[in-house]
Amino acid sequence: LGGSISRALQQMSNATVIDEKVLNECLNEITRALLQSDVQFKLVRDMQTNIKKIVNLDDLAAGHNKRRIIQQAIFNELCKILDPGKPSFTPKKGKASVIMFVGLQGSGKTTTCTKYAFYHQKKGWKPALVCADTFRAGAFDQLKQNATKAKIPFYGSYMESDPVRIAAEGVERFKKENCDLIIVDTSGRHKQETALFEEMRQVAEATKPDLVIFVMDSSIGQAAFDQAQAFKKSVSVGAVIVTKMDGHAKGGGALSAVAATKSPVIFIGTGEHMDEFEVFDVKPFVSRLLGMGDWSGFMDKIHEVVPMDQQPELLQKLSEGNFTLRIMYEQFQNILKMGPIGQVFSMLPGFSAELMPKGREKESQAKIKRYMTMMDSMTNEELDSSNPKLMNESRMMRIARGSGRAVREVMEMLEEYKRLAKIWSKMKGLKIPKKGEMSAL
Ligand code: GDP
Ligand code: MG
Repeated sequence: LGGSISRALQQMSNATVIDEKVLNECLNEITRALLQSDVQFKLVRDMQTNIKKIVNLDDLAAGHNKRRIIQQAIFNELCKILDPGKPSFTPKKGKASVIMFVGLQGSGKTTTCTKYAFYHQKKGWKPALVCADTFRAGAFDQLKQNATKAKIPFYGSYMESDPVRIAAEGVERFKKENCDLIIVDTSGRHKQETALFEEMRQVAEATKPDLVIFVMDSSIGQAAFDQAQAFKKSVSVGAVIVTKMDGHAKGGGALSAVAATKSPVIFIGTGEHMDEFEVFDVKPFVSRLLGMGDWSGFMDKIHEVVPMDQQPELLQKLSEGNFTLRIMYEQFQNILKMGPIGQVFSMLPGFSAELMPKGREKESQAKIKRYMTMMDSMTNEELDSSNPKLMNESRMMRIARGSGRAVREVMEMLEEYKRLAKIWSKMKGLKIPKKGEMSAL
């Protein structure tokens, strides 16, 4: 996909006269590419029409930066599709909210329920899980196992076969226990069947969810729109989570789901593990959809703000994909200094949204300083190793003692490192565009 779009845009910039024919050819090429990414046909067609209205041929003919104008227009249109115009219901800490998960069987509901609970638990919430799937054998065991691992209270039954009853009982119980995030996992079916929708409606009626989250497998392709719409018709879906974004699918179906449910995507699932879960971020998602990778904006920024003489070394490190604790330490230093490289690194997907949320800069800085204090007690071997097994318990205890922090904090710092290392590993083997080759999106 990335290839064909680049090719289309390349043709565009090679043409000396930009006329309607060239623009059309370019748009057709991109259309094909977006369809391959599972973006719904109708959305692509509408976008094409919009682009034609937005892109002024005279501006293009006037010369400079045609590629940029068109790319920007496409990028913006796709971002707009992903923005339903209103945020989803946001639960409030300390006040009981009921969140119901719906979606087809295998879409990732049960896994995502736990991820959602775990994510909030780490932020100081009191989540609880209710298993209202009595359809699939083993459903309760699966939820129980996940919940136990994450130390999250759960409710369900092997005996009771009425999902509505279990859901209502579970919600009631956790309200009494002052849980503030009561998550109801429902059953799914292979197909969109009347029985499934009826059951969902009843569970919703009994539990009065504050938010219904539609869970969608990123690989469902063009079926996304109809599927999302069918769910929206039965229960009032208010948010979308797209799972399995670690696979091959680019997730173009997410645009359909947003269009069909008029609800935003709030998280994406990026693996089977509990912590493989990210806050949805429109721009990197669209970059990926267009085959530009999460890194296009980042690479641009490097060329823009990192002094020329520092670029080769930095890019070399990036493409090696070997993210050691020492590199993390250096990047923390940069962020604290907020020099040009610091600015760049604070734009890295993992650094920005999670480590340095907007509006909480002071807190983030304090955390980074704390991490650095602990890293000051590490040996060179530890700092330069990329073997996660090296950091055993006795090393962690030594570091904690040396830095006057709790072992728990050392573990938290190492978790942060693992998370960043995983993001970083995607950079491995990256072909680094030379200055001028990369056009800004
Ligand atoms: P449910 O039937 O909707 O409850 O789906 P499950 O939660 O049982 O998930 C179905 C399968 O998808 C399981 O094998 C999960 O481990 C897997 N899964 C769920 N989310 C993700 C994800 O984000 N990435 C990957 N790779 N697998 C996932
Ligand atoms: Mg399930």
